Amino acid sequence: MNFSDLTSVFELMEKTSQRTSLTMHMAKLYANASREDVGILTYLCQGILVPQSHGIQLGIGDKLAQHALRVVSGNSTREIESLYRKNGDLGITAQMLLSKKTQSTLLSENLTVKKVCDNFYKIATSFGEGSQDTKINLLGELLSNASPIEAKHIIRFVQGSLRLGVGEPTLLDSLSIYHVAKLISKSDEITADGNKIKIAHVSINYELQEKEKSSSGSVLEFSCLGKLGEIAAKKNQTIILPSISQNISFPLLSISEVKSRYSLKIDILEAKRLFRELFDRAFNMRSDLAFVAENVVDGKLSEIEKISPAVFSPIRPALAERLLTPEQIFEKLGKCSVEGKYDGFRLQVHKKGNEVRIFSRKEEPMTHMFPEIVQAVKNDFSAKEAIFEGEAIAMDEKDSRFLPFQVTIQRKRKHGIFEKSSEIPLRLFAFELLFADGVDYTKLPYEKRREKLISLIEKNSRTIRMASRILAKSSNDIQSFFEKCLSEGLEGIIAKDLNSPYVAGARKFAWIKLKKSYGKSVDTFDVVVIGYYLGKGKRTQFDFGGMLTAIYDPKKGTFKSIAKVGTGFSEEEMQSFAKMLEKISTKDKPQNIESDMEPDVWVTPKIVIEVNADEITKSPTHIAGREATGEGLALRFPRMISIRTDKDPKDATTESEILELFELQSQK
Ligand code: AMP
Repeated sequence: MNFSDLTSVFELMEKTSQRTSLTMHMAKLYANASREDVGILTYLCQGILVPQSHGIQLGIGDKLAQHALRVVSGNSTREIESLYRKNGDLGITAQMLLSKKTQSTLLSENLTVKKVCDNFYKIATSFGEGSQDTKINLLGELLSNASPIEAKHIIRFVQGSLRLGVGEPTLLDSLSIYHVAKLISKSDEITADGNKIKIAHVSINYELQEKEKSSSGSVLEFSCLGKLGEIAAKKNQTIILPSISQNISFPLLSISEVKSRYSLKIDILEAKRLFRELFDRAFNMRSDLAFVAENVVDGKLSEIEKISPAVFSPIRPALAERLLTPEQIFEKLGKCSVEGKYDGFRLQVHKKGNEVRIFSRKEEPMTHMFPEIVQAVKNDFSAKEAIFEGEAIAMDEKDSRFLPFQVTIQRKRKHGIFEKSSEIPLRLFAFELLFADGVDYTKLPYEKRREKLISLIEKNSRTIRMASRILAKSSNDIQSFFEKCLSEGLEGIIAKDLNSPYVAGARKFAWIKLKKSYGKSVDTFDVVVIGYYLGKGKRTQFDFGGMLTAIYDPKKGTFKSIAKVGTGFSEEEMQSFAKMLEKISTKDKPQNIESDMEPDVWVTPKIVIEVNADEITKSPTHIAGREATGEGLALRFPRMISIRTDKDPKDATTESEILELFELQSQK
C-alpha cells in the first residue's frame, strides 16, 4: 500500500471524532490492504511500530526533527523555528515547508507503508556513536520523498503525536465490522481450519452503518451459527436459508456463545458483538493487535479461538471492581478468598528455562529494573515455563512493615539500578498463575490457580512469597482481615471469586477491592493530565499553577475533564511538572480531549496521576458523566497523591467507573 493511501485516510480520521466513522474508515482500510501490510497498518494507526512489550520507541525530539526538515526543505533553523512557533505543530510546519518545496521539485519515489515503517524501525533502533546522523538521514530520506500531507504525518508519528483518536477498542470494532462485511459481501470460497467454506453472496458492502441504524426490518438474517452450521462446514454442504433464499454455508461455527440453536437469526450488530468478543479474548491473551488483525484478515477464526497464553507475550491484566463494605462483598461473592492489597508495582513474570522477563501492567519490559526478582524467579520458582503475576513492594529492614508506594517507585529508574536494589530491595507477592508448563491456567477457577502457584514457589524464598489471604466465610471474616491488612501498612484488600477464571483485560466482579476510606469518596482516582495552568502569585516562578485532569471514556477513546488539581505537590515537584508537561504541550486542544474548561496550556494525554478527593459532585463545568447525569461530574477538593508512571492513560479511571463510584458514594 502506498503511504499516501494511508495518509488520506488519516486526514479523514483527523476530521472526525465520531467513533463509528473512525471504525468504518479503519474497516475499509483493512479491506483494501494487502496481507503483508495488515500488521504494519495496525501498528501505525496506534502510533507504534511493534507491540509495547518490545520496548521500542521512536521519541524523536524537536531538534532532531527540525534538523531533518532543514536538510530537506533548505530553510534555515530560524525560519523553521519561527513557523513552528506560529502554528505550534511541527507536523503542520513540515507540511507548509514541503508545500513550498514541491512547487519546484518533482517527487522522486512513491513511499509505501512498508518503506516508511522500515525507516521508522531503523530510527528507533539506532543507538550509540553516529546514531543522531543516521536518524536524521533516515528521516530525511522519507521526507524528501514525501508529499506535504505525508510529511505532516511522518513528523507527527516520529514525535508520538499522531492525534487520530484510534484506540484499541476502535480497532477491535473495525476488525469485527470488517469481518462481518467480508462474510456477507463475498461469495468466494475461503478456508477455515481445513474446511472449505462457501459464503453466500449477499449484496451488501461496507455501508453497515446505515443498516445498523435502520429498523429491525432491514436487519439481515444471514446466519445460523451453531451445530447445524458446524456440520455443514465439515461436510462442505450448503444450507438454504429461507429468509434470503440463498445458498449459504457457515464459517466460524464454534463461537461458543451462539450455542447449538437452529435457524438462529442474528442481526449485524449481534454478529459484530460476537466477533468482537472473540477478538477481544485473543487480544487480551497476546496484547498484540497486529497479530489479531492478521488472523482476522486471513479468515483464520478457528485459530483465533484457540489462542492461549504464550510465554514472553504479556497478557492484559485483570482489573478489580469496587464495593463499599464487607457485607456487600460477601453478598456478591459468598464464600470467597480475600487477599491483601499491596501498593507497589504490578509485575507479570514470564519464565522459560533460565530466561526470565518481567512486564509492567502497561506491558512494558521491566526486566532490567528488578535484578533481585529475576534471580529469585530463577532460583525459587520451579516451573520450566510459566507466566504469573504479583505485586512488588518495598518493605522495611525487618520485613515487618510495607513501605508506601512513594518508596517503591524509586526503583523505577534507568541508572543506578544495582545500588538502589540493595538499598530498597523488593519483595514480590505472587497472586495469580496464568500459565505453567503447557497448561492455560487463565481458564481454570481461582482455587486451582492458587493451589498450583503455591506448589511452584520455594517455601523459604525471601523475595517471592504468596500474597496473604484468608478464606472468608462471613462478612465479619472480611472485616477483620481488612483491618489486619491496614494495620500492616497495606492499602486494603481484594476479594476474589473462588470459581471465576482469570478475566484478562477486564474489570469484573471476579475481583473486588476495598480500600481504606478517603472522606466520603470510595476510592482514589487515576486521572490523566490534559492541560496545566501557569502559576500566579507565589507560583509564578515555577510556570506551573496546577493541572486540568480527565477520566477516560474507552467507548469513544476520549478523555473527559473532571477536576482541576492544585494541591498535593511540593515546590520541587512543581518545577519538575512544569518541565515534564512543557515537553508534551500542544498549541491546540488535542482531538481526544473533551473539556469546556480551557487550561493555559493543553498537553497530549500521557501522564496519569493518582488523586484523592472528598467526594464526587455534580458540576456543569466538567464533561465527565454528563451524558448519563445531565450535568457533569467533578472531584471536590482533589489532592495529588503520586504520579503513576506505572499506569497508561487508558488505565485511568473510566467514565463508567466514575458513575459507579458516584452511585456508591450516595449509598455511603
Ligand atoms: P487499583 O489499581 O486500585 O484498581 O487496584 C488493582 C491493583 O491492585 C492491581 O492492578 C494490582 O496492581 C494491585 N494488587 C495488589 N494486591 C493484589 C492482589 N492480591 N491481587 C490482585 N491485585 C493486587
